[in-house]
Amino acid sequence: MTESFDENTILNDLRAEDLNLLNSLLSPENGFEQLQPAVGQNREADDVDPHELLREIQDLQDPLHPPQNPSSTMSASSSKPSPTGAHPSVQEFAGEFGFQICLDSLTKSSASNSWIYSETLKQVFIKMNHVLNVQFKTSEPLNHNQYFIRAVLVYQNNDFVNHPVNRCSIHWFEDDPHQQAHKLCNTCNCEAVNWAGHVLRCQTNGAIYQYDSQSERHSVSSPVASIDTNDVVSLHYYFACKTSCPRGMQRRSVQMIFTLEDQMSRVFGRRVLPVKICSCPKRDRDRLEKDLKIKAEDEADLSKRFKPDFDEMNFTNCDVTPHATRDNLEAAIAEKFKTQEKELNAAMGLIMNCLQRHNQMEDLVKMIRQKWMAHQ
Ligand SMILES: [Zn+2]
Ligand SMILES: [Zn+2]
Repeated sequence: MTESFDENTILNDLRAEDLNLLNSLLSPENGFEQLQPAVGQNREADDVDPHELLREIQDLQDPLHPPQNPSSTMSASSSKPSPTGAHPSVQEFAGEFGFQICLDSLTKSSASNSWIYSETLKQVFIKMNHVLNVQFKTSEPLNHNQYFIRAVLVYQNNDFVNHPVNRCSIHWFEDDPHQQAHKLCNTCNCEAVNWAGHVLRCQTNGAIYQYDSQSERHSVSSPVASIDTNDVVSLHYYFACKTSCPRGMQRRSVQMIFTLEDQMSRVFGRRVLPVKICSCPKRDRDRLEKDLKIKAEDEADLSKRFKPDFDEMNFTNCDVTPHATRDNLEAAIAEKFKTQEKELNAAMGLIMNCLQRHNQMEDLVKMIRQKWMAHQ
């Protein structure tokens, strides 16, 4: 679409409810990632992002919430796509406020039986319905109650990353036995039934539970009280399903995506924390760390075992030294396979030749036998 809009006309015509409609219409799901309307003065059409356009219109429409500073818009533009969209970004960035998770607090708090943090795997292991205290800090102060930290669960595997992380039917049923939460299409009524659809919950006061009807993702946002550079924000999360829940996460790995957002849902920083919700956090952590160690040892062992073979192999046509790099080694092996393939093809040709001669001999014998029979 290259249709031109007149800014003043748009500003005059758009009302608050129209903005929501426009927001949904401009979603990537509706194929509007390539949309480049030519709005704004002295701006190339190619430089205009439709979401950016919407934010600008919102900023101009809403004098109560002007943009914090010009660089905010830049951060927002780097935050595409939506934190709760079908394909949320998992790219970590500190942003202009230096948004961080306090990993020290995760490591120190791990004495509890209910959850444990693996520094090796950079992952939390936690029991269902037990509280995980995640602390955040910024390198720049944040104004009082103007920012939020949103948390949403996303599958780690690319095959499932666009699927919302939903509760299993059994645990959902415990909170919502009459199936009231999502009775109406595209409408979340989880608030009325113990937040039935939310796997991830936050105990911190003021937490706001949200639902994205397009991606069907549930998320929870917590307002950040004023934070100074040395302050930390503690948020208390818990999980209402296990990673292994059948017809729920079904053993698919998940991660928590934390986004620092303002009131306009513009993203100023993003952090990722993989989490496994299980019955025995310590056991699972030890097992996964052990698996990782064995895998690393196997790989090291494999490369060691390769070395003597490499010396014994007769790579006459390959430029390989005993200190060959992995690339050289792979090239040498590929060359060796090619030679062997040639030899195999030659052998196959010989066999085919023999078979042909065998058939000819058989025909000859048959003919001689027939002539001999005729003589008798
Ligand atoms: Zn819901
Ligand atoms: Zn469950």
